[in-house]
Amino acid sequence: MTTPLYKKADSLIELRSDDPDLRSALARLSGRRDAILASAADASGRAILAQALADLLDGPRPTPDPTRFALRPHVLAELQRITDAELARYLVYRYRYDVFPHTHVVDAFPPCLQVEPTSICNYRCVFCYQTDPQLTSPKNGQMGMMSLDLFKTIIDEAQGRCEAVTLASRGEPLMCRDIDAMLAYAAGKFLAFKINTNAWFLDETKAHALLQADPSTIVFSADAASEPLYSQLRVHGRLDRVLANIERFHDIRARQYPHARVITRVAGVRYGGGQSLDAMETFWGGLVDQVAFVEYNPWENTYERPINDVTAPCSDLWRRMFVWFDGTANPCDVDYRSTLAAGTVPARSLGEVWTGEPYASYRRAHLDGRRSGLSPCNRCTVV
Ligand code: SF4
Repeated sequence: MTTPLYKKADSLIELRSDDPDLRSALARLSGRRDAILASAADASGRAILAQALADLLDGPRPTPDPTRFALRPHVLAELQRITDAELARYLVYRYRYDVFPHTHVVDAFPPCLQVEPTSICNYRCVFCYQTDPQLTSPKNGQMGMMSLDLFKTIIDEAQGRCEAVTLASRGEPLMCRDIDAMLAYAAGKFLAFKINTNAWFLDETKAHALLQADPSTIVFSADAASEPLYSQLRVHGRLDRVLANIERFHDIRARQYPHARVITRVAGVRYGGGQSLDAMETFWGGLVDQVAFVEYNPWENTYERPINDVTAPCSDLWRRMFVWFDGTANPCDVDYRSTLAAGTVPARSLGEVWTGEPYASYRRAHLDGRRSGLSPCNRCTVV
């Protein structure tokens, strides 16, 4: 029997938002085509822009082809908040993020950097690796907070090389003692600066810190619109507190940051029975710009899953690199115990880790149909 695949590029399986207009976005790009090309930062950026604009604007629209650049609804929503002067930077970022994982191009820096301010979380969600005591036991050394100095080193190297920086991975970012300073340090440096939070610690101070950082997207992780389902999935969480925090954030944004460009999203994991996107939209829709579900992947038992027969390459090896709180660089958070750890920052630069060994050998193995020789890729279905 063929193993069902987890298609990472399509993991946002249900999204509700104001309907962005593809036709007007394409007209905007068409009218500025020459100016966009002329504002490329360098020759490689110009080549990417030429291809991206050709894919979008020239010839008939082909049937969906991941090696051709396209503007999907959540990308259109991002594009609406981008100024004309930022279009070249944005399109280069988005092309590298969407197309390189399918054409298997590796350039000097990851298209997306996922930085973990802390690996500690106050929740024990049923679908999350935080339920694994091997990760959370203090004696195993996997729990900690990133220092502000290390964070600054990472941001300094990423600025100008990468537009997509997400603060989130194994832990809850707002639990990091230096998160306000981290947000302030990264503010204004990346066009796709994103943070994921369960909103439990989203008090007034944190709301201001987030809004002043001018992120492109804030994702509030919630999977239900009522109790007891919310706290059955988000174990140790409580819907009334999270709702109150998101309501306060919404009011602060509306009253004090009316021009904030941030896209807010409540996103849940589509886990099983009882969840409804209609109910989510009714409950959360007045407080955020988007409501969505992402497809469930069994993050909570990566290392116990059966060995499978998947041979297709994992796209994340060409899309993102994770940096844990202690500087460990890892290809993904499915491997949350860092079996595939590829180096440590700042002993090696992010660019060296991304382009060097063992990362390159992981990609070769995947391209050659030999992912079964890597653990835990041999138990994982991400492509
Ligand atoms: S475990 Fe391997 S196949 Fe799975 S997401 Fe990580 S790198 Fe990709």
